[in-house]
Amino acid sequence: MRPEILFPLFAPVDRLKGVGPKVAPLLHKLAGPLVRDLLALAPTGVIVRRRTTSAEAVEGETAIFEVVIDRLIRPGRPGVPIKVRASDDSGFVHLVWFHGSTNHIERLAPPGERRLVSGKVERFGGEVQIPHPDHIIPLERAEELPIVEPVYPQTQGLTSRQIRRLVESALALAPELPEWQDPAWRARQGWPDWRAALLALHAPTGPAELLPEAPARARLAFDEALAHQLALARRRRSRQVAAAPRIVPGTVSEALLAALPFTLTGAQSRALAEIRADLASGEQMGRLLQGDVGSGKTAVAALALADAVSSGFQAALMAPTEILARQHALKLIPMFAAAGVEAVLLTGRDSAAERRDTLAALADGRAALAIGTHALFQEAVTFRNLGLAVIDEQHRFGVSERQRLQAKGDLATGGVHLLTMSATPIPRTLELTQYGDLDVSRLHEKPPGRTPVTTAVLPQARIGDVVRRLGAALDRGAQAYWICPLVAESEAVDLAAAEARAADLTRALRQPIGLAHGRMPGAERAAVMDAFARGELPLLVATTVVEVGVDVPNASIMVIEHADRFGLAQLHQLRGRVGRGARASACTLLYGGEDAGLGETARERLEILRGTEDGFEIAEADFRLRGGGDPLGLRQSGFPAYRFVDPVRHRALMQAAFDDARLILARDPDLTSPRGAAIRVLEHLFDWRPDRPGAD
Ligand code: ADP
Ligand code: MG
Repeated sequence: MRPEILFPLFAPVDRLKGVGPKVAPLLHKLAGPLVRDLLALAPTGVIVRRRTTSAEAVEGETAIFEVVIDRLIRPGRPGVPIKVRASDDSGFVHLVWFHGSTNHIERLAPPGERRLVSGKVERFGGEVQIPHPDHIIPLERAEELPIVEPVYPQTQGLTSRQIRRLVESALALAPELPEWQDPAWRARQGWPDWRAALLALHAPTGPAELLPEAPARARLAFDEALAHQLALARRRRSRQVAAAPRIVPGTVSEALLAALPFTLTGAQSRALAEIRADLASGEQMGRLLQGDVGSGKTAVAALALADAVSSGFQAALMAPTEILARQHALKLIPMFAAAGVEAVLLTGRDSAAERRDTLAALADGRAALAIGTHALFQEAVTFRNLGLAVIDEQHRFGVSERQRLQAKGDLATGGVHLLTMSATPIPRTLELTQYGDLDVSRLHEKPPGRTPVTTAVLPQARIGDVVRRLGAALDRGAQAYWICPLVAESEAVDLAAAEARAADLTRALRQPIGLAHGRMPGAERAAVMDAFARGELPLLVATTVVEVGVDVPNASIMVIEHADRFGLAQLHQLRGRVGRGARASACTLLYGGEDAGLGETARERLEILRGTEDGFEIAEADFRLRGGGDPLGLRQSGFPAYRFVDPVRHRALMQAAFDDARLILARDPDLTSPRGAAIRVLEHLFDWRPDRPGAD
């Protein structure tokens, strides 16, 4: 239930004076449908006007002059600007209009009268000019001329000044609200209370107050982050109280560990220990295993799966693509079979008969482990006693998909442990906002025996050299990927491009070449990938189907055409396919292509990849480079759209909000204290979800 004190803020913005049927839809689009939304529309600029004189005026400043109007200079012919000459004691000021009516201008600036004139100063020759003055008013109305004026983001049909007026009437509706922030914390930050912060937000006195760290903005950002972290912390708590099966390592785990062809790294062992503590706790696990491409997440997951099976529960491993699901199956099914455990693969491409068998084996519990794609959570799939669900490359799934898989087990056992994995392209900066409800284990360290990848950034014109060097490397027994992006409007055109490239390379290199793309029948593509994995094909020309998870340690060369058309995070994932074996690895990023104009900026962006192999650094750089925005399609995947928080600049505040939220709920889980009541107000006020049920 929304607290009554917030009702005025949740009134439709349409009820403000001056909002008619024309303005309302514009406001909805710009800010949102509610008074609260308009108040959250922060100014993006501020005009500060300075009193000056013709002699002292500085080019580019917004200034106020006190002048006497001398005369109007009528344009001799159309297309020539209308000018008014005015003067003060130090010289002339020319007011200029490139369009407009002479009569109107004459009324605004009648010759012989004294006026205050304001606008942006240009110096043209020796002359001071003000093109399209924003104010011309008689001296006795001087107070109408604001010295400072916020500038709002505009939209077609709605000026900044109109918005400012509407914001003013919205501000009049803002009540004093109880303080939800910890008083000591707020005092330490030197922040105003909520209402004062809102007033200050809309009345900046200079550019410094537009910065994310200005007290008013920082306070509102913290409020917003706290509201969001509270929601995440609640979700985490509700999972903790849900009972879940107790899972401990057993014989299958031991067999699997013995079967691994390597010993776990320190990072892998630590992550596994964290996971095992959760699994044994009797509370439902919600953990993210995060590690850069190639950090060895699969082995950790496999041992957790083995623990579940050892304890008599079924376990499931879900991957976002068929290739990846197959690759997991290829490795894990034999290992589990050796331990006497039946594991099945379920994808969308199984024959009807295969599928029937698989489903039966899962339903009666014969199969203890299921590996598969989205097919795993379709309605027809039932588990006898699912205890653990592992989701690989979880950022490729929506929130609802992972919940659906988890729900498969909730029916049978009352709770399924959830382990999600990601070589996340999400910068650390954003981690808290995305994963505040999950506990995180990280694999910082890579398995031994990795070779650094040497990355080169070259214009497309150098493709001849690249092919020549590639040929020499293949002759020495290397294997390579050649990536053609999906770029054109039509997939058919892209495919043709990939096929043409494969044909070119076949001619130039005189080697067998495999082609893999998303439109091939799954079995055919799997056959090509397998042949490449077995070393039978020296070169694989592919579209981005190899991006996720593919593991062929002998492959040591990667060429990416039109690299400038990929996101950096995606390029990093692609490059992660090489550098996995003993051979020195190389990655060549070709940029530019036919549209040579793209050249410089594209190259600069790609240089980031040349400089580092650290996925987090790359994601962070990419994020900055794109100026925030929505670089990774996060919004679509349930990522919050913040109005005040700048995830890069407010990083420390977000951490504080994360800690504070957990503390608040630990002390007062039902929010019954006075601060708890204030927290409820906060949660409603900053909940931007459009489709909230029970609007009042
Ligand atoms: P990712 O974290 O990207 O999913 P994988 O689990 O596919 O990485 O592991 C990448 C490669 O590293 C695989 O070939 C795997 O067999 C190997 N690997 C994993 N752990 C170790 C280890 N502790 N020592 C040596 N190699 C390992
Ligand atoms: Mg993986």
